[in-house]
Amino acid sequence: MKTIIEPFRIKVVEPIRMTTEAERDGLLRAAHFNTFLLRADDVLIDLLTDSGTGAMSAEQWAGVMRGDESYAGASSFFRFQASLRDITGFEHILPTHQGRASERILFQIMAGPGKVVPANAHFDTTRANCEATGARAVNVPIPEAADPRSRHPFKGNIDIPRLEAVIQEAGPANVPMVIVTVTNNTGGGQPVSLENIRAVRALCDRYKIPLVLDACRFAENAWFIKQREPGMSVRSVRSIVREMFDLADGATISAKKDGMVNIGGVLLLRDAGLVQRAGELLILTEGYITYGGLAGRDLEAMAQGFQEVVQEDYLAYRVRTAEYMAERLLKAGVQIIEPAGGHAIYIDAAHFCPHIPPAHFPGQAVVAGLYRTGGIRACEIGSVMFGGTLPDGTPRPAPAMELVRLAFPRRVYTQSHFDYAAESIAELFAKRATLRGIKIIEAPQALRHFTAKFAEM
Ligand SMILES: *Cc1c(COP(=O)(O)O)cnc(C)c1O
Repeated sequence: MKTIIEPFRIKVVEPIRMTTEAERDGLLRAAHFNTFLLRADDVLIDLLTDSGTGAMSAEQWAGVMRGDESYAGASSFFRFQASLRDITGFEHILPTHQGRASERILFQIMAGPGKVVPANAHFDTTRANCEATGARAVNVPIPEAADPRSRHPFKGNIDIPRLEAVIQEAGPANVPMVIVTVTNNTGGGQPVSLENIRAVRALCDRYKIPLVLDACRFAENAWFIKQREPGMSVRSVRSIVREMFDLADGATISAKKDGMVNIGGVLLLRDAGLVQRAGELLILTEGYITYGGLAGRDLEAMAQGFQEVVQEDYLAYRVRTAEYMAERLLKAGVQIIEPAGGHAIYIDAAHFCPHIPPAHFPGQAVVAGLYRTGGIRACEIGSVMFGGTLPDGTPRPAPAMELVRLAFPRRVYTQSHFDYAAESIAELFAKRATLRGIKIIEAPQALRHFTAKFAEM
């Protein structure tokens, strides 16, 4: 088979400012070893996140120029609504400025003190918004999810018996919803099978609990279903996407991922009463229901982006990128979560630096090393992100894995950028014994990874 090429040409370029390792050492210290505190200009290959960092298409930019900036009832809203109805089948489409705004509204109207919200895995902002209402966020992934070497095709699946146990223990009345995150971002960008979503649906029906998708990467998830799930290869991605949404009572979407835009979000609900309350909260803090905190041009970009993301040539290239990086890193001896995720690869930092215990943040040590060695910006997903204390002061349970995520912006980097990144990671791996543990100097209570200050031990 020939190389799967980037299915686009490049019309506009942004220069990358080259830096030396010595320069980066100084910049890293000035940023207190937290790559979120670096200036983007000081980064060579920015794999911090795939969120809002993608390149828009010529058609999306054309939509930006067409944007109708009327306060209410703008034509851009109706184009956005039609596009999302077409993709998801949901009738009620609320725009928000990004995923967490959808989450805040969802949890405010559905969760609260004493409630328990199970999921395959809550993303960091999802967990924070859930806990902010006084509810408890519980992860019930299948056991394979915690084994980096397991090649289970759907490591994002929910463990159905464990989910049922959580529901029974809490009492169904105290479980306001079950969340299925597609793909499972914090668990390695791993997909959830259609069979698993159907099983969650059946369980939710039995206990009369709504099923909500955290659908940030719905198209990548559908692509994996088409590739890996028996009987699915003949179906179009669009029809798989539609079935995923048909199984849900609601969905939160960060359009900064598979919406292919730089800013935007969506909240989908079926229940008319919930739509009403969500709309009221939207107006209270985001904006009127036909713009939700966005400009008309942003709604145009989303309307087009949601159509482009389900194109199968795009998805083949997208998923192949992560797979290619996975192959290169495994060949270099770097343990990653196998198989590759859709939008990112996840380095097993505990394997990378066995000499650094979780309390000294092996993931953050690798993140610092990658920046120093290659100017690559990555993100820790381990004891920095999920450690610390709960709002009541008790320590959070230790995360199952110490990971470093390399997330791939959509349609931004070429194969040689990825080759350079793989070479830099292999170089750091060869000198991994020189990596030192990290300690926290200063950190806020919630979402501490964004702003914490660290030092090298
Ligand atoms: C990014 C993300 C969110 C939050 O979306 P924002 O647009 O960053 O607010 C929620 N869930 C998952 C799985 C995500 O990847």
